[in-house]
Amino acid sequence: MKAFTYERVDTAEEAVAANARTPGARFIAGGTNLLDLMKIGIEAPSHLIDVNGTGLDRIEEIEDGRVRIGALVRNHDLAAHARIRRDYPVLSRAIIAGASGQLRNMATTGGNLMQRTRCPYFYDVNLPCNKRDPGSGCAAMGGYTRRHAIVGIGGNCICPFPSDMSVGLRVLDAVVEVMRPDGTTRSIPIADFHQPPGADDKVKEFALEPGELILAVVLPGPAGGRQFYHKVRDRASYAFALVSVAAVIQADGSGRIALGGVGTIPWRSDAGDAALQKGAKAVADALLTEAVPMDQNQYKLALTERTIALVLAEAKG
Ligand code: SF4
Repeated sequence: MKAFTYERVDTAEEAVAANARTPGARFIAGGTNLLDLMKIGIEAPSHLIDVNGTGLDRIEEIEDGRVRIGALVRNHDLAAHARIRRDYPVLSRAIIAGASGQLRNMATTGGNLMQRTRCPYFYDVNLPCNKRDPGSGCAAMGGYTRRHAIVGIGGNCICPFPSDMSVGLRVLDAVVEVMRPDGTTRSIPIADFHQPPGADDKVKEFALEPGELILAVVLPGPAGGRQFYHKVRDRASYAFALVSVAAVIQADGSGRIALGGVGTIPWRSDAGDAALQKGAKAVADALLTEAVPMDQNQYKLALTERTIALVLAEAKG
């Protein structure tokens, strides 16, 4: 690990100001992803700004029935919160489906949104990876792709986005609040927050601009209906999704649906939502219309349809 300096800040304003005056600085909260990457040399910040003291660790009810989740709320606390369990169970279930108990106790809402890829080639610094080293190539293409994405793949990266929580937030139409370096704030719809890889050598993963800090995630008023998060993985816990389905299904069969494990970003489309009353095949076809599977991950097409079928059957009781 390369040497770095460290400071603690007490407010979000102090955090963005500290970042603005220190080239190469990074914010740190739970550290469950960043520290791992620093240990193997993929991330090498010159300075860490610890934001754990900024008070962004509350879940608040705000006007119009919305809920504001501070960026520092730990994953476990969010999943266990009474209002979340009652009105947004798809989010609670998505969080519980991810990582391990120890990690959920430490990981934060803001950090979970910004998880880096779990592509094995990203972690091997001897191999080319556009996400780690833009322009170097993609070792996964032509390599081991069983877990890789089949939709949202650009010309330069095919890794699936790993966060379960983000798939739950996508189906709920959450909004991400961020603070700019000058202390002003802006809101980013979750649909725009995660960025699919482009056709060029640039791999911008998130809609954040340099120096911006996530303050909170805001949930709209309750979506109602019956809510589901079903995750298919290689083992019963502590594994990333091969396919996951987050859904909010109303009594008449209409609703919303999003997928994890198949896309480079949490995957949802208007066509997928519109097909919900037509059955699993129609929904899968609508969501995966642009799929570009490879030999090793072709199975995700059928697995997606079957997982959707399971959720729709559960919704019917
Ligand atoms: Fe890197 Fe993405 Fe290719 Fe994996 S799939 S090697 S993360 S560019």
